[in-house]
Amino acid sequence: MKKTGLFFGSFNPVHVGHMIIANYMATQTDLDEVWLVVSPQNPLKPKASLAKDHDRLHLVRLAIGDNPYLRASDIEFGMPRPSYTIDTLTYLKEKYPSDRDFVLIMGGDNLATLHKWKNYELILRDYQIYLYKRPKVKKAEFESHPSVKTFDAPLLDISATYIRRCLKEGKSVQYLVPDAVFEYLENATLYR
Ligand code: ATP
Repeated sequence: MKKTGLFFGSFNPVHVGHMIIANYMATQTDLDEVWLVVSPQNPLKPKASLAKDHDRLHLVRLAIGDNPYLRASDIEFGMPRPSYTIDTLTYLKEKYPSDRDFVLIMGGDNLATLHKWKNYELILRDYQIYLYKRPKVKKAEFESHPSVKTFDAPLLDISATYIRRCLKEGKSVQYLVPDAVFEYLENATLYR
């Protein structure tokens, strides 16, 4: 049984803040692997600043390179929209019944809104949540829930919003995104 952490995000684009969390969880906890699950665009909500699914997935693949502990997942691209985490978890459990155990990786900002998620009671009952603290986030209601395990991962105060703004303004995002992502973005029109 491979213990697999699922790190969900729009990754618009993926940045080193994401990669530090993914790598920390994959190498400094009992997880065997971490999958970065790219959330699809909601077709009902066209969002001008959200890059196309496959572009975001491609950037995540570039960021991961040949790291054997990380994997990019497009599992939600083929699922009904909007994609709810509980549905994705259920689908994955059915797809990998005997070889994988799935754990949710979540920042404190997400845990604080968990009570609004579809079937959150089921998520807490059936899955472990590996929580990492985010700055400026108050202690969440579920932090002491038996399914929630807290980790002190190194934090970087950057966001995809900031990266997009830099690109739009023609500023360098070198070192804020993995090298391969930087090189790709240098030669692309994405986010400009
Ligand atoms: P945006 O600025 O567009 O809202 P983001 O950088 O917050 O994007 P998401 O794709 O929404 O990126 O992030 C995926 C997950 O990673 C979310 O759960 C988010 O809380 C977390 N995350 C985002 N930035 C960081 C960071 N610097 N350090 C740790 N976790 C982060």
